[in-house]
Amino acid sequence: MRRPELLIPAGNLEKLRTAILYGADAVYVGVAGLSLRARQSEFTLADLEMGIKEAHQKGVKVYAALNIFARNSDLPNVETVVNHLAEMAIDGIIASDPGVIQLIRKTNPNMVVHLSTQANTTNVEAVKFWANHGVSRIVLARELNLDEVAAIAKMVPEMEFELFIHGAMCMSYSGRCYLSSYLNHRSANQGDCSQPCRWEYQLIEATRPDVPLILEEDDRYSYFLSSKDLCMVEYLPQIVNAGISSLKVEGRMKTVYYVAVVTRTYRQALDSYLQDPEHYSVKAEWIDELNKVSNRGYTTGFYFASEKINEINPTTRYYQSYDMVGTVLEYNPAAKKILVGARNRISLNDEIELLLPDETIKLNVTEMHDEAGVPLRAAHNQYRIILPFDREVPVGAVIRRAATATSSD
Ligand code: SF4
Repeated sequence: MRRPELLIPAGNLEKLRTAILYGADAVYVGVAGLSLRARQSEFTLADLEMGIKEAHQKGVKVYAALNIFARNSDLPNVETVVNHLAEMAIDGIIASDPGVIQLIRKTNPNMVVHLSTQANTTNVEAVKFWANHGVSRIVLARELNLDEVAAIAKMVPEMEFELFIHGAMCMSYSGRCYLSSYLNHRSANQGDCSQPCRWEYQLIEATRPDVPLILEEDDRYSYFLSSKDLCMVEYLPQIVNAGISSLKVEGRMKTVYYVAVVTRTYRQALDSYLQDPEHYSVKAEWIDELNKVSNRGYTTGFYFASEKINEINPTTRYYQSYDMVGTVLEYNPAAKKILVGARNRISLNDEIELLLPDETIKLNVTEMHDEAGVPLRAAHNQYRIILPFDREVPVGAVIRRAATATSSD
């Protein structure tokens, strides 16, 4: 059995570092400039260069997603960015447009090319077609069930296959949807969906615009278009046995906290499976952890024929039972103190949790100072505060606190 790779989304340099700290084998990134827009959730080329160097020092691979369907006018920019990526020693480019793939092959024939799920590969002939065009890995269409995935993987053993194991599900067929483009001017077909299908919609009759028709699926909400999120932690053996070599988590737009918790949980689960594949069983604590990041309730999506595919979840808003309140910026072993960058309010007597890569430490905030040694009763976002702590803690470790109310991620 090939050791499967745990592939984590890294929307920016901090998330890349978080993914590495909590156990990713590989990360995938978006690149500002190629998508013709620079968003917070994308890397600048300078940040990416630094990120690739740091990742390679830790033995972690970095792939760049260039999965736009390019217009002619985009092609010069595509070529420039591909050349930059090659110079930075990126480990592979994830693309979906045949034109982009052809351009990569022409300009950088040694570049590793992965085919995005947006290319909708659903059968063995399509896999062979892409193998003949220099693609070495395919993210199969997520509409396939696991039996279909296994059958395809068996027929083309030389091809690597990657599958999504966790994250938001799209309600349209492999991302072919204009909702985001129409409502937010951000095109899903250019890899930039803002996920407006998660919003709450109403049905309005044309002559009575002020009186929306109430369609209640329960006494709280109705979300006509919103899917539950994918979660396959229980079914890692079935995924790996289907011939999958890369287990992919969705969510380049998600938070550092999400990256930390999801990476750590799947790292533990995958290691447990690899140590003893015959006796793998999901642990309650893994499910518990995955319930502590934003989610809309979990589903196994399309993977089992008996499952109701893409089932919507009318009863759950984005739900997150914990909030990230800071990250560790420094540890001072002589003073036994940690310097924390606050991301949220932290008050004296708060019960907080420090997430180490393989352990969660509960702490009560009994004292807190600023960097000048002035005692604080409360700290806010962007404060730099010092907390006593007597063990070495890695830089970038995440600190969280139970949420007091339902919140969004
Ligand atoms: S808006 Fe929703 S359904 Fe449309 S592409 Fe984005 S995630 Fe998919």
